[in-house]
Amino acid sequence: MVEITIRKRPRTEAVVTQRKFFKKTARGKVIKVLRERYLRDDVTCGIEGCRVCSESSDATLPSSGSLDHSSYPDGHFVLPDTNVFLAQMDLMESPLFSPPIILLQTVMEEVRHRSLPLYNRLKALVKADDKQIWVFYNEYRSETAVIREEGETPNDRNDRGIRKATSWYNSHISITRPPVKGQPNRPLPTVVLLTDDVANRQKAEKEGIACISVRKYVEASKDSGKLSDLLSAPGSDNIEPTRAAGARQVLYPDYLPMSTLIAGVKAGQLHQGHFNANQYNYLEGNVPVSAFEKPILLIGRENMNRAVQGDVVVVEVFDPKEWKAPADEVVDQETTLKNDDADDSEEEVEDEEGITERKVMQSEASIRSLSAKQPTGRIVGIIKRNWRSYVCHIESTSLMSSNPTSLSQQTVFATPVSRLLPRIRMRTRQAPTLLGQKILVTIDRWDATSRYPDGHFVRALGRAESKEAEQESLLLEYDVPYRPFGKAILDCLPSEGDAWVVPPKADAVPEWKDREDLRGLIICSIDPPGCQDIDDALHARPLPNGNIEAGVHIADVSHFVHPDTPMDNEAAARGSTVYLVDKRIDMLPSLLGTNLCSLRPHVERLAFSVIWELTPEADIVNVRFTKSVIASKSAFTYDEAQVRKDDPNLNDDLTKSIRLLNSLAQKLKAGRMAAGALNLASPEVKIHLDSAESSDPIDVEQKVLKETNSLVEEFMLLANISVAQKIQETFPQTAVLRRHLPPPPTNFEKLKDILQKRKGMTLDVSSSGALAASLDQCVDLEEPAFNTLVRIMTTRCMLSAEYFCSGSVARDTFGHYGLASPIYTHFTSPIRRYADVLAHRQLAAAINFSPLHATLHSKSHIERVLEIVNRRHRMAQMAGRASVEFYVGLALKSRSEKETVIEDAFVIRTFRNGLGVFVSKLGIEGLVMFKREIQFDADNYTISVPSASGAESTTIAVFDKVRVQIEVEKDKNTQRGKVKMTLVSPIDSRAL
Ligand SMILES: [Zn+2]
Repeated sequence: MVEITIRKRPRTEAVVTQRKFFKKTARGKVIKVLRERYLRDDVTCGIEGCRVCSESSDATLPSSGSLDHSSYPDGHFVLPDTNVFLAQMDLMESPLFSPPIILLQTVMEEVRHRSLPLYNRLKALVKADDKQIWVFYNEYRSETAVIREEGETPNDRNDRGIRKATSWYNSHISITRPPVKGQPNRPLPTVVLLTDDVANRQKAEKEGIACISVRKYVEASKDSGKLSDLLSAPGSDNIEPTRAAGARQVLYPDYLPMSTLIAGVKAGQLHQGHFNANQYNYLEGNVPVSAFEKPILLIGRENMNRAVQGDVVVVEVFDPKEWKAPADEVVDQETTLKNDDADDSEEEVEDEEGITERKVMQSEASIRSLSAKQPTGRIVGIIKRNWRSYVCHIESTSLMSSNPTSLSQQTVFATPVSRLLPRIRMRTRQAPTLLGQKILVTIDRWDATSRYPDGHFVRALGRAESKEAEQESLLLEYDVPYRPFGKAILDCLPSEGDAWVVPPKADAVPEWKDREDLRGLIICSIDPPGCQDIDDALHARPLPNGNIEAGVHIADVSHFVHPDTPMDNEAAARGSTVYLVDKRIDMLPSLLGTNLCSLRPHVERLAFSVIWELTPEADIVNVRFTKSVIASKSAFTYDEAQVRKDDPNLNDDLTKSIRLLNSLAQKLKAGRMAAGALNLASPEVKIHLDSAESSDPIDVEQKVLKETNSLVEEFMLLANISVAQKIQETFPQTAVLRRHLPPPPTNFEKLKDILQKRKGMTLDVSSSGALAASLDQCVDLEEPAFNTLVRIMTTRCMLSAEYFCSGSVARDTFGHYGLASPIYTHFTSPIRRYADVLAHRQLAAAINFSPLHATLHSKSHIERVLEIVNRRHRMAQMAGRASVEFYVGLALKSRSEKETVIEDAFVIRTFRNGLGVFVSKLGIEGLVMFKREIQFDADNYTISVPSASGAESTTIAVFDKVRVQIEVEKDKNTQRGKVKMTLVSPIDSRAL
């Protein structure tokens, strides 16, 4: 961009405009601020070869404009207004949308005020190599600057400024290209105002300015078929009058005005919370709010009132007389609504799907369990939409024409991959070619007259079930940033690259300043096989006084990643490395993760060390922290370390060190357990891949934990706790810590009731220690896997752990429930978790190694960063799990082609029309559905199926072990693979 130099003129002729605004002072007084703007006439137009603005060498707009549009044969530039960027960013970003664009400063600033995410996308767009965009500083050029007039709204003022700039551009082009005598008049390109604001267009036309709506512009352009799919769905306010919009039935109640919502929440009459859809029943959802122990249950479409998973909503709670229990039925939108027509939105009066849904609701209303009532309510307003792009499949049944050559526009349904989302209605000309593909769809609006949200197609990800499409859709679905690191980020790395080494020890060398030389220590690392990013290593040795010195050494990532650099900002935005089955998406460039910060054996590396003196009973005598240089002596896998420890013939220092660490770890663990730490379980399976190239899964195996896993874990926990204490002491207001809140007892009600009724067992949830002890008692001698199952179900009742800033919450809520530790943080994995990088910086300041960056003194800054990191952390876990599920599905598919797959499963839920089962060998959950009427006892968690003769019936209850046949079948409608389970034993459910 051009460097702007301000040329001051004599006061008399200076063109000065004023911007007036009000500012609140620190003492609360409101003062009027006048900001003077010096206008200039050297703000350039950006058109190549312009005679007047010839100084600008970086002009990006071609002299003739674009000659590709049929409406503008003499060439044109587009000048979009603010709303075009706010509503049509997917179009603007498309590589197919390529006219030269004039972006006004006014527009850019408006976008920044209205939406930060869109502003960031706009900034990226300006920088993109394949776009011709010129940012024109219209507010600084004397001819195009406008001052708000008396009584003019800021909006109108901006619109006027945009029209003025368009008109200036057109006259600038004609003035700078005067006709040459004796030569035919050259055609001049037009600058076209692109706007969907009808009033603004009318004004522009009156002023003689070329203007056009986005839809009209796109329809007349070269790739109109593909481009028009990218347009946001038109709302009812700009549908052509011929479509009898007035006749459309209102299906949902209107939202209350924002001021009423906020006042209602403040007064406690209304309640605010996040909307959660029910994955088993699309006609039910809930909203947890602080005023009630149980979440507010929302039954039926009208009460859910167009909320989408994750939206921040306001609910009104019904009279306790109307409170109900959640339904016990699986209600699947694909089967209930399979005959729905995407295109008959106008006749949504008493249509078929409405009737079907009403029936479902009525039939279950009479049979809801009476014992488990919870508050019910309805959504009266939305505080914040949480919409994004969703990975979807097109429903083949919603297509009018599947002729692949047909380019006619069709309205179709897109079904999101996530069961928590409603199907989305969208118009597309590419429907036949998109069938069977994974596609990205954005929701644009959800009108009260429309049963479904309206959205538009963003792009295709590829054939469903191809690994590339599945992998990308997973990353998109969990919002994992996965683009390669840009140049600005890579420029932050040491210029030596892979050749970087710790320089030889000398006083003047900055790398050695205040660092301890620990190269002589017998340090080793123990990790899973194939680990490339080794961020921790350990050592232990006996001390002359009979105690033991033990050390944890963590890669010194903060030596390479400095605060507020492009690399640091990117790592903060990514928050965490994401591990998929066959791909790793790094938080930091791999030069650091797999080389410079990987504590490889026989290489000198910079580290941050925590060194304890412990008694042989593992009591801490003291602890110190130091930056260091280490040279690991070996990198073991868990197996190798285990074998070495157990080999009686080995008595070298390294082996002795592992034995010492192991004996301490056992005592540390015993101490933790005695303090009430939980030993929870999650269904962890391991995928064996055929080869790196094909990455076909050949087997799924449950993970087995070795003693040496626990060895590493105990020392990492100890390091995290010691660091947490140190940074909390030093920075009581801003320490980056991690906590795990105790779960509300109501979370366990159902599990407690099931255990009591089915097994006669009690779960004591009064404290983590009591819970741990009672979990140990949940043993079925005949069924060793039962205890693990209960632990998995218990884990699901827990809240998730979170990072927090120590000054932001009450001191008595710091504790980590699962670990039974009063204080905790993450310090041990700075290569793959950003919170650890922050903890490293704080610890370095706490030991006076380096001063703390200003941002880490700011509570609000840390809160902001941790909010993102918490979200990324959750998403990374979910993405990892979804990736495992996808591969389990692939493994099942290939197995079921060769043989009938039958596995043991535990019943974990009973429904009126089916069973929820858990197959522990594969770590997956599934549904067994019955078509025929069965008997269901909600209070005792059983179903009874009469035999064919009717003489006797088989009863199945939660916790029963059954055998299921697992098939992967392709859903004919959406073309996606679906795991289907049927019961084989104790009864055959195929006929049911
Ligand atoms: Zn010019």
